Order: sequence, then structure tokens, then C-alpha cells
Amino acid sequence: APVIVWFRDDLRLADNPALSHAVASGRPVLCLFVHDPQQAFARALGGAVRWWLDGGLRALHADLARVGAGLHVACGDAATLVPRLVAQAGAAEIVWNRRYDPAGRETDTAIKAAVKEAGVAAHSFAAGVLHEPWTVRTRTGDAFRVYTAWWRAARAMGDPLPPLPAPAHVPPAARPAAWAEPCVGIDALGLRPVAPDWAGGLRAAWRPGEEAARERLRDFVVGGLAGYADARDRPDLPATSRLSPDLRFGHVSPRQVWHEAVMAVRGTAGQGAGEKDLEKFLSELGWRDFAVSLLYAQPELVSANFRTEFDAMPWRDDARDLRAWQQGRTGYPIVDAGMRQLWQTGWMHNRVRMIVASFLTKHLLMDWRVGEAWFRDTLVDADIASNVANWQWVAGCGVDAAPYFRVFNPVLQAQKFDPDGAYVRRWVPELARLPTSCVHAPWTCDPAIRGRVAYPAPIVDLQGGRARALAAWKGLSGA
Ligand code: FAD
Repeated sequence: APVIVWFRDDLRLADNPALSHAVASGRPVLCLFVHDPQQAFARALGGAVRWWLDGGLRALHADLARVGAGLHVACGDAATLVPRLVAQAGAAEIVWNRRYDPAGRETDTAIKAAVKEAGVAAHSFAAGVLHEPWTVRTRTGDAFRVYTAWWRAARAMGDPLPPLPAPAHVPPAARPAAWAEPCVGIDALGLRPVAPDWAGGLRAAWRPGEEAARERLRDFVVGGLAGYADARDRPDLPATSRLSPDLRFGHVSPRQVWHEAVMAVRGTAGQGAGEKDLEKFLSELGWRDFAVSLLYAQPELVSANFRTEFDAMPWRDDARDLRAWQQGRTGYPIVDAGMRQLWQTGWMHNRVRMIVASFLTKHLLMDWRVGEAWFRDTLVDADIASNVANWQWVAGCGVDAAPYFRVFNPVLQAQKFDPDGAYVRRWVPELARLPTSCVHAPWTCDPAIRGRVAYPAPIVDLQGGRARALAAWKGLSGA
């Protein structure tokens, strides 16, 4: 009887404890992916994530085929489909790596119970985080609400477990005859956009899969980690790892990233990166775990304000302003550059994510959930925990959030973090020929120069928008 390995957000062979367990059992292995479009986000998967998933599944299938087994792909409601596939395969056991989002946990608990009731073993493993959410707790056993305290406690637990090697051979099981019907294959999932095919920019920017992720990781620890602490806020420099989609889909595990970065600094190779760069990078990786642990402790934060006084916030509902923000036509170059980078490549630099999110929730006084939904649809790294936690953080309504009255000035932010205007010029090409002195605020350019540039006037006055936001916030009880 075979063992089924159910892949989800862990599309890799290395450091995959569920796969390693199955191989070690000595039984033939059936590798399964179930596309359950409603499941992953408890809502529909976004377009960019669907595009990445298509490539990620193809890469995983090829990688598995190389070591003996391929990937079987099915489509449907996992809660009913998985127990049926287990029964049809006559499996002795099903294994998977744990996920921590509310909808995923609920499904997995139900499946485990159903499968066990049918007399089949079911085991799950830790693979997607550095430390599982319930293991990092305050002295009284509660969940942390402050990142620095969480990080100190997580750090005190020592390095996460060393990653497992990829199995050299996965003994395949014959595909069960009854699996023919629901197992539709990757093509039939229809994850790629067809008409219009908007994914050209994504294809140019990314190659999904474990091999590409390992290359990105290696390139980063060799070439990017040195200087990370100082340069990570600069969107004009290639200073961060860009591993977020790989971590989102599990082409690489956070433990692999952790150990590879530690080795690069403390190992023999050296590479020039110092402890300061390493600690900063590890603590950014920690934010990902912290976001997971927040949602684990309070599943309602997916859509509810952590600070409930924000429930009374008089958010504006303005379709024109929203469209200008989404399309990168706000008249603020750094905001527009970020939103266009997002649209074209499915990714945006973290500093710019903060700037555009602040602009939406403060200068435009729009609900963070509207921005979160747009990011969910357009980011290749769209992840329920990180997306929600960061949006609530910027909007001032989240756990350990920046206070609402701290409103980013997009011009000053741009001058500080894109000092030569290279980032803005790259993503807003109509501004490419403006002098650096006014590229972040085109309305201050010499009228003769500005007149030659087709670029929108600002859709909101910075001072006026800020005053409107602060007045709305002051009106909240408890603010
Ligand atoms: P690096 O600087 O190289 O960091 C390494 C890894 O650490 C990242 O790949 C990521 O997994 C993790 N990380 C870094 N910063 C954060 C952070 N603030 N929160 C959580 N994890 C972090 N990240 C997502 O992965 N998915 C999202 O949906 C997402 N939505 C966001 C929404 C907003 C409004 C903001 C402000 C940030 C959001 N982030 C999200 C966090 C962050 O912007 C990205 O993880 C980061 O830009 C990815 O680039 P990188 O891999 O080069 O990061």
C-alpha cells in the first residue's frame, strides 16, 4: 500500500519532512497536489499567485520525475476530495507539512479525522516556519503582541533545526485507476492567463521552482547579504533577497534560508557580510513567522481591525482615486513607480509597499482591506498572514502597529530612499528626463521642463490629505 504525500505550500524536495518521511517508510510514494481555489486564502487565489502556482507545479513535477515519481494533480474541494483519493488509492498513510492559516487548519483537521476514522494513518510535519506559532510564547503562555519581544523569545530558542537533504530517489506507486477522473493534470487547472495574456512581465522577471529559488538564495548570500542592513530600504538597489515568492510557495524553506545565511557569514567562506547584516536579515525572516503567529492566535484578523476603534473610521469610497492608485497615476512618482512595478512584475520593494499603503490609508483615507485585496490579486508573494499583518501595521490598526498619526510623506521618503531617482525613472519612464532635483515632485520642476512631460497632477494635496486623515482618526473614541 502506498504513502500519499500531499503537497501544498511546500513545493520542494529538499527540507520537506513529509516527503522524507514517506521515502523512509520504504513504501511506494504517490505525490499529490490538490488545487482547491477557494481554500488557500479562504477566498479566490489572486491572478499573480495562480500564474506562479502553474510554473511551480510544473517545476515540482519535473523535479519529482527526475527522482522517480511524478506529481499527480487533482482539482476540487480538498475536504471531501482528499479522503476519497486516499480510499481509492488504498493508501496506508497520508502525510503533509502543516499550514497555519485559519481555513487551511480547519480543512486539515477535518481531513485527518476522516482519514483516521477510515483506518488510515495521517501525519503532519513542521516545515513552513522557523518556529511553529504555539512554541514561541510569553512566560504566561500567551501569544506575543510586540515584535521585538517575540523576536527575543524566538532568538533565545536558538537556531531552527537544520534542513533535511532532498531524497535521491522517491519510489513511485502506480497511479490508482480510480484517480483518473479527478486528477486532471496541470494544464486543465487553467492557472495561466490566456486572453488577455497579462503575464509577460511576470515571465520576464521570475522563474518559479525549487532550482531557481536555490539559485536566488545562493546569489543573495554570496552577493547581496553584505550591506543588507544599510541598503535594504533602497528600492533603487538590488539589496534584498527577493525570496518572498519562493518562501510563499515553499520552493525554499525558511530553515534553509536561515542556515544558508548563517553559514555565509559564520562559515569559512566569509563573503564580507557581517553580523549586523545577518541579524537584520534573520529578523526580517522573523517577521514572516510573527505574521503567521498573529493570525494563528486571532484568525479574525484576516478581515477585522485588531484595534477595534478603527471600526468607526470614516473610510472613503472613491472609485476614481482607487483606480489612480492601482494604475500608478496618482501624480506622486514613488507611489506610481511602486504600483507599476507591482503590476508589471508581481512584486514591490518593501519600503515602497509601506509608502503606497500609507498613501492609500492616510492621504486617500481608504480602507486597508481595499489595498490588501489589490495586493492579494497582484503580488506573486501574496500570503494571507504577511499581507494582512503588514496592511494593518501600516494602517495603524494592527498589532504593534506604527501609530496612525505617523503619515509617510511620499516625497521625503522618495528623496531619502531613492536619492538619485533611479527607481522612479525605471518604473515611470515618462519622468526619466527630469532632473534629480525635482523628479520626486514634478510640480516643482521648471515649467518649461514640466510642460514636456505627460504625467498627472497630484490627485490629493499632501497637507490637505494628511489633515483630513488626522481629523478622521481623532474622531475615533480611544484614538
Ligand atoms: P528580504 O528583505 O530579502 O527579506 C527576506 C524574507 O523575509 C522575505 O522574503 C519575507 O519572506 C520575509 N519578510 C521580510 N519583510 C517582511 C515583512 N515586513 N513581513 C513579513 N515577512 C517579511 N510579504 C509577503 O511575503 N507576502 C505579502 O503578501 C506581503 N504583503 C505586504 C503588504 C504590505 C502593505 C507591506 C508593507 C509588506 C508586505 N510584505 C509581504 C512584506 C515584505 O514587503 C516582503 O516580504 C518583502 O518585500 C519581500 O522582499 P524580499 O524577499 O526581497 O525581502
